[in-house]
Amino acid sequence: MGRYARLSPLYIVVIVLGFLGLNYLLGDRAGEEISYSALKAKVEAGEVAKLTIGESTIVAVPTDGARAAGAPERWTAVPVDDPGLIELAEEKGVEYEGRVSSGLGWILSMLRPLGLLLVVWIYLLRRMGPSQSVMTFGKSQARLQAEGDTGVTFGDAAGVDEAEEELQEVVEFLKRPDKFARLGAKIPKGILLVGPPGTGKTLLARAVAGEAGVPFFSLSGSEFVEMFVGVGAARVRDLFAQAMQKAPCIIFIDELDALAKARGLGGPVGGHDEREQTLNQLLVEMDGFDPRVGVIIMAATNRPELLDPALLRAGRFDRHVLVDRPDMKGRQAILAVHARGIRLAPEVDLEVVARRTPGFVGADLANLLNEAALLAARRGGHQVTMDDIDDATDRIVAGLEKKNRLINEDEKRIVAFHEAGHALVAQCVEHADPVHKISIIPRGIGALGYTQQLPTEDRYLLTRAELLDRIAVLLGGRVAEEIVFNEISTGAQNDLSRVSDITRSMVMEYGMSESLGPIAYENRTPNMLGSRQRFDMERPEHSEETRQEIDREVRRIVDESQERVRELLTKERDALDAIAARLLEKEVIEGDELIEILQKHAPKKGRGRGRARTVSSRS
Ligand code: ADP
Ligand code: MG
Ligand code: ZN
Repeated sequence: MGRYARLSPLYIVVIVLGFLGLNYLLGDRAGEEISYSALKAKVEAGEVAKLTIGESTIVAVPTDGARAAGAPERWTAVPVDDPGLIELAEEKGVEYEGRVSSGLGWILSMLRPLGLLLVVWIYLLRRMGPSQSVMTFGKSQARLQAEGDTGVTFGDAAGVDEAEEELQEVVEFLKRPDKFARLGAKIPKGILLVGPPGTGKTLLARAVAGEAGVPFFSLSGSEFVEMFVGVGAARVRDLFAQAMQKAPCIIFIDELDALAKARGLGGPVGGHDEREQTLNQLLVEMDGFDPRVGVIIMAATNRPELLDPALLRAGRFDRHVLVDRPDMKGRQAILAVHARGIRLAPEVDLEVVARRTPGFVGADLANLLNEAALLAARRGGHQVTMDDIDDATDRIVAGLEKKNRLINEDEKRIVAFHEAGHALVAQCVEHADPVHKISIIPRGIGALGYTQQLPTEDRYLLTRAELLDRIAVLLGGRVAEEIVFNEISTGAQNDLSRVSDITRSMVMEYGMSESLGPIAYENRTPNMLGSRQRFDMERPEHSEETRQEIDREVRRIVDESQERVRELLTKERDALDAIAARLLEKEVIEGDELIEILQKHAPKKGRGRGRARTVSSRS
């Protein structure tokens, strides 16, 4: 629970029970409730001294004689519409009075326990601490105190240089919003930090505020989900109102996905309405302000695919900053940051630690050093030794393996050769885009590594030769596995489906098959390359024969391409081994470095690298 005072259902139950109990305790404990006829009988028998007749109760006070005979302090009964009681009272000489406003009495009787309850409540609140108040319920002052200075700088984050570079611009803007506004420069409104958990998204957002020296308002998306309807939206409104007053400043919404899941994606539990209202309010606020006032909205998520597309539209969170898992150098830098406060033995080499921790994110590495320090303390040592760090690594690896995030050494080798295969083919064939980056850092589920190619120019028309080269590059990973390990893993599935997409379009759409001729067997939009749509083979337009011919042609193209790639990779086996070895060592290879390796092992094959748009062929 946050510092925000909330009325949980348990609280309400306790309050209601307490209320009922108090009412009972303070109520007519001494009275006895009897039926109207019984009451009338008591009057008749002369046991009643006084009657108080209200709208909802009749109270009868017994005579002293009756009291002595064991009657209670008073009897109460529910009245019926019967003038006979008054007549009877007159007749027996019983004193009686009416009570018009029975409501007042009732209210008074309720107020007594309420007062007591209030005392108890105030006492409890006192105990919870001075910052809490139920009276701010629905408002959010308590939680919305902006951090004046986060005290975090970019120096506290490491291994995320690209993200830092992109955020530097935001810092500049927050420092001098007027300057930007005067120049008419386009200022980002919403910046979304995207990346796996623990890579430093929250840290970076705080660092931006710290670097710029501006207040930092933060909220977590998951907090909204537990709240009552309407409160979330009110808090968003408050948040923006307060931020406008403190501009320049940063509004940071952590775990945006919890709040902004695409409509209809939520779990079966309630809370949808609340989330939707909050989300809508957020959209309204984001649309309604001018970033030139100096307020920047940042948000973080590790599930960008869950976000409501409305949030990603222009003018909202349209700027995305990738905060990725660190590579080896990055891990070393992060370790250095967290080693600042730890007394390390001189023999500890952080580079070695970084090498042994593939797949670790910043939070894991911080945890690792902390754990190692604890181990050192437990054995009574004065310094954290390499052994402590190794032990801590083993523990954390075991934990991460349970979460299925790390790959083992064998898998890593397979992935390295697979990606090396893609890259080598891409550098060797004539028409493929040059390789920008190869990585075997696992990311997300399914993609164990990736090879990134940068096209040198934007292309709208592709020739047959270019398409064939594309197919070759895609097959490169699988064929490399086959050559090196003599077997094929399941990692090439995505490659293969793209290969068959391209091949089928060549045959059926672009008329690039000799035996079938220039006939389009399928009418589809031309930009389907890389898409994963399937052809509808049940369509009755083609005969069975044509279909078989299409299959044969697809088969032939793939087989020939595969043979071509096999030849190429066998010939350049040296280069393939060299690339894979470097990948295993460094996990990431940039384009320049790849060219260097190739020049050493397969001269003349290295080519320049491109600029422009990025195309990734994930493993
Ligand atoms: P995220 O928000 O991406 O899940 P956090 O920013 O909450 O990750 O990171 C948790 C902690 O892990 C940080 O407080 C910091 O100690 C450590 N950490 C994570 N990433 C980095 C990094 N890139 N550099 C240094 N420390 C990091
Ligand atoms: Mg976080
Ligand atoms: Zn692949």
